[in-house]
Amino acid sequence: MITVITFNPSIDRLYKLNKFEIGSVQRANFVNPTAGGKGLNVAKVLKKLGEDVNCIGFLGGFNGKYIKSKLDEIGIKNNFTQIKEESRICLNIIDSNNKSTEILESGPNITKEEIDEFENYLSKVLEETEILVASGSLAKGLPKDYYLRIGNLCRQKNIKFILDSSGESLKLGINSKPYLIKPNIEELENLSKIKIKNVDDIINISRSILLKGVENICVSMGKDGMVLVNKDFVYKVEIPNIKIVNTVGSGDSSIAGFSLGILKGYDLKDTLKLSNACGMSNAMHISTGDVNLEDIDKFIDEIKVYEY
Ligand code: ADP
Repeated sequence: MITVITFNPSIDRLYKLNKFEIGSVQRANFVNPTAGGKGLNVAKVLKKLGEDVNCIGFLGGFNGKYIKSKLDEIGIKNNFTQIKEESRICLNIIDSNNKSTEILESGPNITKEEIDEFENYLSKVLEETEILVASGSLAKGLPKDYYLRIGNLCRQKNIKFILDSSGESLKLGINSKPYLIKPNIEELENLSKIKIKNVDDIINISRSILLKGVENICVSMGKDGMVLVNKDFVYKVEIPNIKIVNTVGSGDSSIAGFSLGILKGYDLKDTLKLSNACGMSNAMHISTGDVNLEDIDKFIDEIKVYEY
């Protein structure tokens, strides 16, 4: 089974505006609030692909109840640890040129007791987990090296750990030798402190990260596809041009495709095709973590993966 950790889930509210102007009153065409957070996007796409997942992490207050009800509504299994503080709300404002402005709350503080309760549950759930996906930022109150600790637990239990985070938590988490990390260009630049100019830069930086024991590094490049680097080879993924609506959540969708490919035993080339097809399909939808199965099948035929 795939288990997905989201430490800081949110209610995502999306507003469509003709023009986004700071310092003025604006009328929005409001789209229904959804259950959001990077891990929940991963879970939503996996569900669409027909795979049952278990979502874990922390939920609290009225917002937490709302998020749970939204997950129940779409049939996503969820076993979040209840916390005292309120889960967060995040805003995404999209103008008529499909330019997106996001406003993200930092989210609730997690207490020591709540962490203990989560860890009790985690140790049980890992017994039935083949792939553990950890997506997004750590919640306040969690130790900075929490992904490192979780990654180490996965290693001990032979569970494939997929880590999609950024900043300090990613940097420390890498020391647990994850099965996969998926930075985008900006995240890879932050991680390496090197300005990336071309694919060769990506490969060189990725190779230096491989030395820390990470098994696969997928660097996503938006409309330019993806590069995968591991100790044996480098794969470059080329994708067709598509009409974009909202790319928020494309990285999460590509993680969903990747984890399903691995779970099903696909080879890495087919896994990369599924991964990119999911990212592309998400980019064609207004809501995050939303994909269309027919589009995915079509994109899989069009995507090219070759050894670089
Ligand atoms: P992140 O959301 O983590 O920044 P990306 O924006 O790189 O990740 O998107 C992940 C994947 O989604 C890409 O590798 C690609 O397959 C697809 N994708 C994202 N943006 C576009 C786009 N503008 N056109 C086509 N595909 C896209």
